[in-house]
Amino acid sequence: MSHKVAILPGDGIGPEIIAEAVRVLDILSAEYGLAVEIEQADVGGTAYDAQGQPLPDSTLQVAREADAVLLGSVGGPQWESLDRPLRPEQGLLGLRAELSLFSNLRPAILYPQLVDASTLKPEVVSGLDIMIVRELTGGIYFGQPRGVRTLDNGEQQGFNTLVYAESEIERIGRSAFEIARKRDGRLCSVDKANVLEVSELWRQVITRLAEEYSDVELSHMYVDNAAMQLVREPKQFDVMVTGNMFGDILSDAAAMLTGSIGMLPSASLDRDGKGMYEPIHGSAPDIAGQGVANPLATVLSVSMMLRYSLDEAALADRVDAAVGSVLDSGLRTADIASANTQTVGTREMGDAVVAALQPE
Ligand code: NAD
Repeated sequence: MSHKVAILPGDGIGPEIIAEAVRVLDILSAEYGLAVEIEQADVGGTAYDAQGQPLPDSTLQVAREADAVLLGSVGGPQWESLDRPLRPEQGLLGLRAELSLFSNLRPAILYPQLVDASTLKPEVVSGLDIMIVRELTGGIYFGQPRGVRTLDNGEQQGFNTLVYAESEIERIGRSAFEIARKRDGRLCSVDKANVLEVSELWRQVITRLAEEYSDVELSHMYVDNAAMQLVREPKQFDVMVTGNMFGDILSDAAAMLTGSIGMLPSASLDRDGKGMYEPIHGSAPDIAGQGVANPLATVLSVSMMLRYSLDEAALADRVDAAVGSVLDSGLRTADIASANTQTVGTREMGDAVVAALQPE
């Protein structure tokens, strides 16, 4: 059966990096029998310019009908003064909400070839391979009531609400246990159960779920300690699962352990494994159109898509290996260049990945 993939290039460097990812899908189809139907649509500022909306109905329809969505990036200075509902980011938030993408997977992998890119000592980060599973559609970012009110004494008071229902904790917990099962079998649940009632419930639900996953070793950690441990001894972690706000912060910290946002993919999954895949970086308006952006985070997003939504793990392994061999050969885009490497542009990097995917 053919997989349906929606391709949403978006803004800035989005179209440049997506073009290389599409070439990867093309060679997997031509040489390894991947059956894939691609449909492309506008999102973000580009969609606003063409159709007056950052997430046109036609784009949402394409995304809904697909098995997976591959997104470049959205945003740019020319759209920053638009009313909030028309801004490019609303395209992204709208897709997450409309497709019920509650499980955000943020790997932090440090390729041995790029160990110098990290600001941490090589022995602390070399070989790092962590997966952070962040709850994406609940918690304090969405909880009601929220707002700014005026108190009796005339002072303003801002307030937000941290809420998680058992069912929300359970579904993100399952997502994380399933992922840990496919990796090293270790899951660390991060909360603040010493202070927050929501976290107490979180811990109870995750602990209860662990009974169904006896092959996964579960541990719990307070978020402040987790932040310390991430920079002190990050390799102790395999999979971490946490709520929306803690995950937002910890996943960015983990990303920076690797030193290079141009290398990091992400996935956001629904209950059935349908997902949206995108690099973690933005639209990089400062280098857009110059042909120098690093396409590897997007290529690695294709790998995650193959693994988590299309059930093509062997092809995902091939893509990962191709990226590894290109790095071995010393090719680098400017963002990851160092002494003794050869700096290439977006297209040349894509060429090298495609060449590495050619059958012997
Ligand atoms: P950014 O990630 O776009 O860029 C930060 C820096 O990293 C820039 O110097 C950029 O040139 C560099 N960079 C990013 N990706 C790169 C790549 N693939 N290769 C080489 N260098 C790369 O973050 P920003 O500058 O804060 O934001 C720019 C725009 O992107 C804003 O409009 C922001 O809202 C948007 N944004 C979108 C997303 C998304 O689409 N998911 C995420 C973050 C920011």
